Amino acid sequence: MQVCRTIEEFRAVRQRLVGSIGLVPTMGYLHDGHLSLVRLSQAQNDHTVATIFVNPTQFNSTEDLEKYPRDEVHDLAMLDSIDVVLIPRASEMYPTDFQTHITVENVSQGLEGQHRPGHFEGVATVVAKLFNIVQPTRAYFGQKDAQQVAVIRQMVADLNFPIDVVVGDIMREIDGVAMSSRNARLDTAEREAAVVLHKSLSGAQRAFHSGERDPQRLRELMLAALAQEPRAKVEYVSVADTKTLKELQNPIQKAALLSMAVYIGAVRLIDNMVVEHDG
Ligand code: AMP
Repeated sequence: MQVCRTIEEFRAVRQRLVGSIGLVPTMGYLHDGHLSLVRLSQAQNDHTVATIFVNPTQFNSTEDLEKYPRDEVHDLAMLDSIDVVLIPRASEMYPTDFQTHITVENVSQGLEGQHRPGHFEGVATVVAKLFNIVQPTRAYFGQKDAQQVAVIRQMVADLNFPIDVVVGDIMREIDGVAMSSRNARLDTAEREAAVVLHKSLSGAQRAFHSGERDPQRLRELMLAALAQEPRAKVEYVSVADTKTLKELQNPIQKAALLSMAVYIGAVRLIDNMVVEHDG
């Protein structure tokens, strides 16, 4: 495994790679969710490149950016089996005269976009840069960040990136909590409380499979479950169209994306589930 810290150094290594390339972009502090994407890439490509970059432009608060967990030594040990890891410097990614930003319009607007202004502009811009630097055949993203997937798919289509976007399932801990680098910031009691997101989504999923099709009723069920946990402060719950990500008002026809952002103490967690009827 080779570690590159400048784009020039990376490009020299990239030129020597023959065959298909899978890219796994990350912000580091790796867990099994990230590794599931690495494994998927390794199964589908001749070479796998991972990037570790805590992208400052996608954070809404400097506190969140500063508190974002980092452990490069641990990350590199976990990435042992891949070809190249690119760890660019913020000063090279965003030199002082940086002027170009990518805005993906409609799919960026609801859900996370509504509560984190500028977040998806930061995501789309950094991912476009990484696509141009790495020039992968395929790029791997987690369903954990469902709206991010929709934003990137739209950008890839609109800007004609010759890249296949591959989406990996949400990896969860045994108790159902979605793996996330941010979980490291939870204390023991908060970590126990964090299970309420998955409980709330699972409850709504069960109701859907028992025939509940009213999106408002599903939102109410999710909120009622979250209200059982005193440490949880809800930012939003959503039942949205799986493609447009617009809130559903009418009975669910075929499928829906159930999602939520919830503070557990000072840590903002997100989770989601797609419900779909069989047949
Ligand atoms: P991050 O480092 O949080 O930016 O995540 C890097 C990639 O890993 C993104 O595509 C995430 O959606 C994905 N990811 C994060 N958590 C999980 C998870 N629990 N399961 C699967 N993929 C995940």
